[in-house]
Amino acid sequence: MAQIYNSDRYNTPIGELVITPIAHGSIILEFDEKIIHVDPYSVVADYSALPDADMILMTHDHYDHLDKPALDKIMKEDTHIISTEKTAETLPGIEVLKNGDSTEWHGINIKAVPAYNIKREYEPGKVYHPKGDGNGYILSFGNFDVYIAGDTENVPELSLIKNPDIAFLPQMLPFTMDEDEMIEAAKVINPKILYPYHYSKIDKDEIQRKLPGIVVK
Ligand code: ZN
Ligand code: ZN
Repeated sequence: MAQIYNSDRYNTPIGELVITPIAHGSIILEFDEKIIHVDPYSVVADYSALPDADMILMTHDHYDHLDKPALDKIMKEDTHIISTEKTAETLPGIEVLKNGDSTEWHGINIKAVPAYNIKREYEPGKVYHPKGDGNGYILSFGNFDVYIAGDTENVPELSLIKNPDIAFLPQMLPFTMDEDEMIEAAKVINPKILYPYHYSKIDKDEIQRKLPGIVVK
């Protein structure tokens, strides 16, 4: 990979996983010579310089998560796409997962979990992320779980996500969580390793200080 990005390597029971946070909600996972792009967004990276996708996972259809210019640069003929019903309105033929659905791709179990707002509204009664429109994902490499939250608040369903090895949690107002809420969400989930992501500004030292039992990346 054109290396301006830092990658982290993890040993899972079924092979090595390489995680490269790009920026915003965009992440690249490499596993068994397959490239998985999560929410590729061309505004934050030059996708022509990044590897083509064997699979693309999108959490929802907002422009910073479903971004055609990024997709055009990384799609191959056989790229598999997994996302939501609303994304499928723009990209017919993709594999759709609703909240609670699971699938398997290349030996990786992928479960869609709820990602939504409780209180973050753009006008009274209208939240940015209505329940059911968006997915978070738990990718299981054997029993090594990677939770990618998508655009969500600290919703009650997070308590069902128990101790993943890795969690990506968003921190950005007015759309998702502030720092305290993100920290509370991390305490609920209790991952071994936390990647705060999808942020505008962040103080990782402060977050680490408040989460002594979790490694903050
Ligand atoms: Zn969104
Ligand atoms: Zn977003």
